[in-house]
Amino acid sequence: MSSSNTNETLAKARIAVLGFGSQGRAHALNLRDSGLDVVVGLRKNGPSWEKARAEGFNVAEPGDAVKDADLVAVLTPDMVQPALYKESIEPNIKPGAALLFAHGFNVHFKQIDPRKDIDVILVAPKGPGALVRREYEIGRGVPSIWAVHQDVSGQAEAKAKAYADGIGGGRALLIKTDFKEETETDLFGEQAVLCGGASSLVQAGFETLVEAGYQPEIAYYEVLHELKLIVDLFYEGGISRMLEFVSETAQYGDYVSGPRVIDAGTKARMKDVLKDIQDGTFARNWIAEHKAGLPNYKKFKQADLEHPIEQVGAKLRARMPWLQANAPKPASEPLKKVG
Ligand code: NAD
Ligand code: MG
Repeated sequence: MSSSNTNETLAKARIAVLGFGSQGRAHALNLRDSGLDVVVGLRKNGPSWEKARAEGFNVAEPGDAVKDADLVAVLTPDMVQPALYKESIEPNIKPGAALLFAHGFNVHFKQIDPRKDIDVILVAPKGPGALVRREYEIGRGVPSIWAVHQDVSGQAEAKAKAYADGIGGGRALLIKTDFKEETETDLFGEQAVLCGGASSLVQAGFETLVEAGYQPEIAYYEVLHELKLIVDLFYEGGISRMLEFVSETAQYGDYVSGPRVIDAGTKARMKDVLKDIQDGTFARNWIAEHKAGLPNYKKFKQADLEHPIEQVGAKLRARMPWLQANAPKPASEPLKKVG
């Protein structure tokens, strides 16, 4: 089901997918199912080597995969990409080939300075890898944004669109962006709303109910489980659709209490978060944290895992086995992968 973009531009191309985690596995499978020629580049003793082989891929060490490739997709964790680029990509990538990222972090924050004789492009699906694969399998796609940082072949835009088609994004929606916009909006979204904002909101709501003496099981359903039903309505038809489905009482409560919880102070702090992203403070801190062996990251993660909502949640979900059937698999490997 590949579209014309894919057929024309990448039909004869060899694509090296470096990394076989959340995005890497999904891209490699979708590109292959779109009829494209894919080799997966991984470290021989790395944890993904056997997984990629088991799914029938031609797997090679990163440098070897890059040598013959017309397009190299860099889908390892962001923090290992600069060393991977220096060691395996820069010495091996063919002049005129394309270097593709799914997140602009390293190019935008100048951790990678790509060779001047290659195309540098970006295709970022707006969803986790498991969804990129699942949507493709049912004949749909995840909306994706694309960008060109460097065009030496005159084909950089066509390559980005063809790749986006190959992973299924073209079946949904493609939007043009640039590396700066993708990097800054992606970081802001995950920090302020999607991961950071949403999990902190849920934890605070849970703590408020439990500290007031209500049963943790009921608090769990109220502030975590039911959030999915609300978010599904957002996804289908925005906030207006949610309002159509909840009671008048819930709507009135939404209008008077929502702005008491998320107020102008919250928005001012969101602007601080954005400023730290834009001026490079967040990137600097994250790179230093990674270099130091993730001391704070590990502490924060442990605290999240030990939060009482996790214990009660695990107990309740064990009694709702149907939830597991459709759940997307988590990113392939645990903490050690970025250590
Ligand atoms: P991941 O952590 O799930 O997987 C990383 C893969 O890279 C694993 O297969 C691992 O074995 C491999 N790897 C690690 N070090 C390596 C090395 N030195 N050489 C070769 N392979 C190595 O990563 P991910 O979450 O899929 O992220 C990949 C890229 O996609 C990042 O740039 C990320 O920002 C971007 N992205 C991720 C998502 C997402 O939902 N996870 C969404 C959009 C964009
Ligand atoms: Mg991100």
